[in-house]
Amino acid sequence: MGGRDEEEPTAPSNGQRDDQGAVCEYCGTPIDTSEWYPVTNRRDPDGSVELYAFCSETCQDSWCDEQTE
Ligand SMILES: [Zn+2]
Repeated sequence: MGGRDEEEPTAPSNGQRDDQGAVCEYCGTPIDTSEWYPVTNRRDPDGSVELYAFCSETCQDSWCDEQTE
């Protein structure tokens, strides 16, 4: 009799939940994407456009200040 030793595929249990994903680019606060939130477009040197989200315009302004050189 062979023992049945099948392993069921288990979901990765790294504890990370990334189903929402949106966090403030500046302070890391999770963003409620069901409501309006400030975003900033930024073009990378290679031509791709990145979208950055923020929890408030205060963070957006602070982040933009850091990006400008
Ligand atoms: Zn923020």
